[in-house]
Amino acid sequence: MSRRPGDFDGYLFDLDGCVYEGSSPTPSAAALIAFLARKGKKVAFLSNNSSEGADEVAAKLRGMGIDADPEDVSLPTDLAGEFLLESFGRVSVFPIGNGRVAEAIRSSGHRIAGNGDESCDVVFVARDSEFSYAKLERAARFLSGGARLAAANPDDYHIGDAGARVPETGAILASVRSASGKEAAVLGKPESFLFRRALAALGLGPERVLMIGDNPATDIAGAAKAGLASVWIDRADEKRGFGAGAAGIECPCIRAYRDLSEFLGDLEGNHAE
Ligand SMILES: [Mg+2]
Repeated sequence: MSRRPGDFDGYLFDLDGCVYEGSSPTPSAAALIAFLARKGKKVAFLSNNSSEGADEVAAKLRGMGIDADPEDVSLPTDLAGEFLLESFGRVSVFPIGNGRVAEAIRSSGHRIAGNGDESCDVVFVARDSEFSYAKLERAARFLSGGARLAAANPDDYHIGDAGARVPETGAILASVRSASGKEAAVLGKPESFLFRRALAALGLGPERVLMIGDNPATDIAGAAKAGLASVWIDRADEKRGFGAGAAGIECPCIRAYRDLSEFLGDLEGNHAE
């Protein structure tokens, strides 16, 4: 018996390409989230963003007229250290990523590999706008020496302003995998760690929460793996590459919508004001 999109107690939103694109909110994002709040629903956000922190993302959402606190936002940037602790225990880490990622790793009790280190336990890959051949070479050397590989997320790109593809962690990870021959343990969607953290923040079990996302390979497949129902925001926009033409991806969502406006219209139809 399939459930209707209005039947849930909690709503987890993907961010890039769903709630906003670059610095612009998507149509009806603020109205939809305000509608859910008025209905007494819990709302939280779950993104594979591995360069910004929850405080920055919450401030960005508030600037778009969307009510959000940092506790409502689950991101690989902030959770890198906890993921490594759960996966490997306390370890020495070579991070590829910005200073916030290194700080999150350090604050969970891990040691950051220094310039003089010949080996480390884990190479952790996040989005790094200063990624270089020298970092790739160092990662490959650590991995050849027995280090394990972990990554914030597998996304090759996200959608930025004007629909442009912005290179993501997955594009960097591809070069590290290619150079090392190793596969990564993944923190973000479609793996379950980030979903578990977001559900804990909502205080709800997976059966009571609906995931809303635009990427079937991470949002929809990840929700299914974590035991959540989902709706797919499929704008069938070719420049995004996730449209109905995306080959070979199963979409076990309970409904697909063209955009958040259509989703809001459906919910309003089922909940007379
Ligand atoms: Mg997205």
